[in-house]
Amino acid sequence: MARYTGASCRQCRREGTKLFLKGDRCFSEKCGVERRAYPPGQHGQGRGRTSDYGLQLREKQKVKRMYGLAEDQFRGTMEAASRLKGRAGENLLVLLERRLDNVVFRLGFATSRAEARQLVRHGHFTVNGRKTDVPSFRVKPGMRITLREKSREISRVTEALEALERRSVPGWLELEKEAFTGVVKAMPTREDITMPIQEQLIVELYSR
Ligand code: SF4
Repeated sequence: MARYTGASCRQCRREGTKLFLKGDRCFSEKCGVERRAYPPGQHGQGRGRTSDYGLQLREKQKVKRMYGLAEDQFRGTMEAASRLKGRAGENLLVLLERRLDNVVFRLGFATSRAEARQLVRHGHFTVNGRKTDVPSFRVKPGMRITLREKSREISRVTEALEALERRSVPGWLELEKEAFTGVVKAMPTREDITMPIQEQLIVELYSR
């Protein structure tokens, strides 16, 4: 699957907001958005008015990059969201939040979603006691996500847990730090997603 391999900070600068793609660096003064708050490239500082399509496209790219999905995965999630009851935009964000890699990141086992995805892929977690190495696995209330015993010495995991005070665990999850376990207490809601996202623009883009 094609995956973006360029500079992460470039993606944030393109979207004009912090997407928190690089862990600790995102909270430091080295953050690319803090240092150069304008789009990358030769014409980065000279771009003028954006069309409606451009605004919709940028919003979609922002969310897609934030969760680290490829275009076909993102489109598939959007289609699944449209089939559910309720507002498609909100459904989309809830489905993205429920991804196992996102949950591992939200619980503080990793400092970025990319790192969380790698940990999941390498089989470091169980869900309800069963090894689960699929980053797109969707969690449900009552599920327990546990770091496997043999993985508890991984330094980047322990460091990420120590640095957790910089971010808070959202209310729909609970971290049992001593047991290296996270519990899904409820389904996430729109209010749990605090990043500035205008999901309606994404729905409009895919309705074209
Ligand atoms: Fe984005 Fe993090 Fe780079 Fe800042 S440091 S620009 S938040 S990836």
